[in-house]
Amino acid sequence: MASQSRKVQRVIEPAATSDGAGVRLKRSIATRTLDYLDPFLLFDHFGSDDPDDYIAGFPMHPHRGIETVTYMLAGEVRHRDSIGHAGTIAAGDVQWMTAGRGILHEEMPQLRGGRLDGFQLWVNLPAKLKMSRPRYQEVAARDIPVVTHAGGVQVRVIAGRVGTVSGAVREIAADPEYLDVAMPAQTAFTQPVAQGHTAFAYLYEGEAKFGVGDGEPGTVIQGPRLVVFADGDEVRVASGGQGAHFLLISGKPLNEPVVRYGPFVMNTRQEIEQTLRELQDGSFIR
Ligand code: FE
Repeated sequence: MASQSRKVQRVIEPAATSDGAGVRLKRSIATRTLDYLDPFLLFDHFGSDDPDDYIAGFPMHPHRGIETVTYMLAGEVRHRDSIGHAGTIAAGDVQWMTAGRGILHEEMPQLRGGRLDGFQLWVNLPAKLKMSRPRYQEVAARDIPVVTHAGGVQVRVIAGRVGTVSGAVREIAADPEYLDVAMPAQTAFTQPVAQGHTAFAYLYEGEAKFGVGDGEPGTVIQGPRLVVFADGDEVRVASGGQGAHFLLISGKPLNEPVVRYGPFVMNTRQEIEQTLRELQDGSFIR
């Protein structure tokens, strides 16, 4: 059967906002325009040459019911948490944290030559895993496989599969794919994406045509933009004259009720109230 190229459904302009103790960032999911893109709850891009935009960081804060995925392009973020992990995420590294029933952590950008650039994605957990044991997958840049396609298109496979190459992060409930794609000028890229899965691209640099199909010219996009794809079984991209850098992210929708309160995302209000009670009486971390 012929493959079905995914068309562009929505193009989202990132909204300038700040979070943590005053980190300036560009938010594309968890805004008034796009509240939730099941199973993705939030997508932030923090990128600045000015330490004043990020140095305040994200001091100790809790999470429950979600996974947070941090992927760095430049600079360093130091982290430590309530279950004894501590370390540094540097350029090209990824940290996939499954908060499960609860974690307290801090994420503090470091001063390293000025520039900080990276992304944080929140992935929802299905009801049956919301109270699971917290877990980390931390992968250093050198351990993330890189696939080179025709024309010099390079794909870093953080999660999912490109051809026969499996990503560095595995066994995640949403069956996610997380690729970082670098396209030289005037090149083409095609990636299968499972039918029925939610898929988006985040073009962070350059210009490209997304949603190219048979007889479909595609939509020209200039970064930074988040591009939501309609259903289909592959994504086709053609880069412009400056080349293009984007993330291609997909995952299986949960189709479950979502009740969110800041860093807690559960299925019912009662579960949120229970979480707040536990934080107050000191039983949040077990
Ligand atoms: Fe956090």
